[in-house]
Amino acid sequence: MEKIRYFDHAATTSVDEDVLKEMLPFFSIEYGNPSSIYSIGRHAKKAVEESRQKVARVINSIPREIYFTSCGSESDNLAIKGIAYANKCKGNHIITSKIEHPAVLNTCKSLESEGFNITYLDVDKNGFINLSDLENNITNKTILISIMFANNEIGTIQLIKDIGLIAKKHNVIFHTDAVQAVGNIQIDVKKMNIDLLSMSGHKFYGPKGIGALYVRKNIDFKKLQDGGHQEKDKRAGTENVAEIVGLGKAIEKAYDNLEYNNCKIRKLRDFYENEIEQRIPYIKFNGNRNNRLPGNSNISFEGINGEELLFKLDEKLICASAGSACSSGSSSPSHVLLAIGLKENFSKGSLRISFGKENTMDDTKYLIESLVQIIKSLRKNI
Ligand SMILES: *Cc1c(COP(=O)(O)O)cnc(C)c1O
Repeated sequence: MEKIRYFDHAATTSVDEDVLKEMLPFFSIEYGNPSSIYSIGRHAKKAVEESRQKVARVINSIPREIYFTSCGSESDNLAIKGIAYANKCKGNHIITSKIEHPAVLNTCKSLESEGFNITYLDVDKNGFINLSDLENNITNKTILISIMFANNEIGTIQLIKDIGLIAKKHNVIFHTDAVQAVGNIQIDVKKMNIDLLSMSGHKFYGPKGIGALYVRKNIDFKKLQDGGHQEKDKRAGTENVAEIVGLGKAIEKAYDNLEYNNCKIRKLRDFYENEIEQRIPYIKFNGNRNNRLPGNSNISFEGINGEELLFKLDEKLICASAGSACSSGSSSPSHVLLAIGLKENFSKGSLRISFGKENTMDDTKYLIESLVQIIKSLRKNI
């Protein structure tokens, strides 16, 4: 098989070799149920708790504030619905933004149909919410602010600490979807005044189907799933031990190597962007070029159809992502690109490249040469 060049780390990542190695025994010899009292049960329980400690340590929380879930989407659901249902008698107003992941947006829409009142904040052309806009929208009915840490399409990193301060000042609970941030940037839930935080294993070289939710101690939330008393009675179901172990190892390894990996990834990304900027005319960079995820690049190519571009890249075994959803042949721009006000002529041909730790300079040069050639040939047809 020819080599695949993978530049879609915001979609998912491969499982790190060391992570897989730590997981394997829990599929076979260490198959006990953490609730059982005999030795292999205790081993499983110990592994789960060690993983919880690793997660807690990295974000500066404590183990009993960490709940394991099945994915980032479940963490978002549990956070937002859990807080909403637990605070019904206090109020019914939630503030979020227009550029959230569907796991947050659709959870809010679902709550809207149950009678909750949702404010979807606008963002500026770089993808930032406006802090005074946020503060002005808080009422005495506001129970939750949910703003993503870093955006999955354009990489913009919000001013999380300032958002946390505003929430604290008004005594409103603050949740952040940090699925793109965990593993890529330093997070301190105390310093940043974060009350709840969602993460997902497969975005930082852990396995798919495992997530975690941090909830500050003393904050009550309603469980969404009834059953056994696992996860401090907040998330029923026998623990997914192997994957929990995988998530713990993955987060530990990501933060042990954070500076090294980010430096390398940023260098590749910047090289790519500089080359594209010099060699391809009529392009636009989306998002904030300074305050964004180290591996993220989102560029619009005038006159290009994003879906078509992805097919051409796929022919060259390059994996990337477009900022549009294809509906009956005509691509329409994503809600994120619409929210940052991308003009019509640019909005259909956006390319998200997300670099990861296994990418090399050779891969990057191959990507650049392929892209230059493809854009040239696609533009010949118009
Ligand atoms: C991937 C992603 C999710 C969903 O995580 P899953 O584990 O795939 O459910 C949520 N929010 C953001 C920002 C993401 O990038």
